[in-house]
Amino acid sequence: MQFIVKEHSRNNIVRKNIINYKIEFMEEAKNPTAEEPKKLNFLEEIIESDLASGKVKSVMTRFPPEPNGYLHLGHAKSICLNFGLAAKYGGKTNLRFDDTNPTKEDTEYVDSIKEDIKWLGFDWENEFYASDYFDQLYEWAEDLIKRGLAYVDDQNQEEISKGRGTVEKPGIESPYRNRSVEENLQLFRDMKAGKFEDGSRVLRAKIDMAHPNMMFRDPILYRIKHAHHHRTGDKWCIYPMYDYTHGQCDSIEHITHSICTLEFDVHRPLYDWFINALEIWPSHQYEFARLNLTYTLMSKRKLLELVQKKLVSGWDDPRMPTLCGVRRRGYTAKALRMFCDKIGVSKRDQLMDIQLLEWCVRQDLNERSNRYMVVEDPIKVTLTNWEPGKVEWFDAPLNPADPEGASRKVPFTGELYIERADFMEDAPKKFFRLKPEGEVRLKYTYIIKCEEVIKNAEGEVVELKCTYDPTSKPGAGEWRKVKGTIHWVSIEHAKEVELRLYDRLFTQANMNDIPEDKDYKDFLNPDSLIVSKGYAEPALLEDASGLPVQFERDGYFFKDPDSTAEHFVFNKTTALKDSYKPE
Ligand code: ATP
Ligand code: MG
Repeated sequence: MQFIVKEHSRNNIVRKNIINYKIEFMEEAKNPTAEEPKKLNFLEEIIESDLASGKVKSVMTRFPPEPNGYLHLGHAKSICLNFGLAAKYGGKTNLRFDDTNPTKEDTEYVDSIKEDIKWLGFDWENEFYASDYFDQLYEWAEDLIKRGLAYVDDQNQEEISKGRGTVEKPGIESPYRNRSVEENLQLFRDMKAGKFEDGSRVLRAKIDMAHPNMMFRDPILYRIKHAHHHRTGDKWCIYPMYDYTHGQCDSIEHITHSICTLEFDVHRPLYDWFINALEIWPSHQYEFARLNLTYTLMSKRKLLELVQKKLVSGWDDPRMPTLCGVRRRGYTAKALRMFCDKIGVSKRDQLMDIQLLEWCVRQDLNERSNRYMVVEDPIKVTLTNWEPGKVEWFDAPLNPADPEGASRKVPFTGELYIERADFMEDAPKKFFRLKPEGEVRLKYTYIIKCEEVIKNAEGEVVELKCTYDPTSKPGAGEWRKVKGTIHWVSIEHAKEVELRLYDRLFTQANMNDIPEDKDYKDFLNPDSLIVSKGYAEPALLEDASGLPVQFERDGYFFKDPDSTAEHFVFNKTTALKDSYKPE
């Protein structure tokens, strides 16, 4: 099978576009040459042209996370892009932690980030830290001072912001702007030596306080922060700012294509300014649109707040869009890579439909996951013509896509559970499951017929007395066809398992478009987690695939680490089919 993903509607009701995907299947046999060569994305075009012109000899990219939280699906996009582009063109990718903000960063985050990248299936060439370059960055700052391109400003944060002006109004020069080189050098060294308090001084580049790009109005290069750093300890009490750090780190590592998200396009001229001013290796920055997903928030700051306020169980709560969260939920690395590949790269902000991600997850799990039967809301079925105490074991394939592959053994007895929804007393004509006097096949086994419906005092159905047809055993004689096939478990053998059923964490599709008077937390879905239980065939508890499993006719489920030897917990990864409509 091959598939085509078509963009078929743009919805402008929300500010950003929701791209709805229509996924069409085509039999490969019908059209074997239909797969067109994939068009290059704009980054591939740039890289190919740079390689062809000899501007770069080999491709070097980097993934630059700040270790101040766990990675989310947006980062997966960036990882797939950085590692994917390098791999495609025979290049390499560094992992560089952007650790210039000591108070928010932690080794816990460093470790989780490395684990997540490996899980996604990528391996970096070098593991670097912006803090590895603190000495070099400091030296370059002195260099700028000596050349009259940087000065120490004694204004406080508020004065500096005020002096910056606005887009319409030029800024005002700081009264400290024209200090001598000697004085600046001495003050900067004193800043480094810890002689001043936090916030009392900064080092600024001396560029142009009337520049139309606000970034050029004497940007801050260093701030004083007496804080312990997770790697450099107490060596530094001044820390470089992002804009003064990022491009220079790229340059030191000879990053040829420094890919970042769109909001950094206004920073690019400054990125180039530092590289030119310092006369260092010319890295270049390119911007692509960040990934936004419906019903999902992807800001580490907000995700951290959800964790700290205990609105979720942790960074790895299966409702979180973090990589550890979706992994615990049962999303596979392969599905995420497929998703990132399908959405491509764009230069315009988009809101992607989360259903496309779920579709990728189903696509992968349908191929690879083992099948088991689990009844979630049972009614008892008693087979009146079954020999009491008899147990018959049936072979059932673990994956019907691979009928020659491994199978599991399913026990069948005279007392079974079926799903309440698979029985209907006053059933319409088209109801092909079990009804009074009706027949249905129990998956992998016999056809049964409903002979009598037993109810309790409240009129609720509590038991179905049925008979089974011994001649309908699969493989024994002629195959008799009935319209419906349902799943079941033997009561005697069934294992009770806890099921955690998830819905969207947020109720609004575009979580980047929250009304002014509201908070994103106002849109938390109160029913995003429902704890329930199910009765499983015994083989489920022995599954060692390490992958989510399919509960037949229901959905994909993944064993949760909260499980113990006695108590099994399963997270619902996703339903077998879409149960909701896109907006
Ligand atoms: P957040 O706003 O969630 O804190 P961030 O951009 O501050 O994200 P970083 O750790 O600085 O997080 O990001 C590392 C890399 O991942 C950067 O290059 C950033 O541009 C990229 N990235 C972050 N979020 C997204 C996203 N939603 N889509 C694509 N790339 C992203
Ligand atoms: Mg950041």
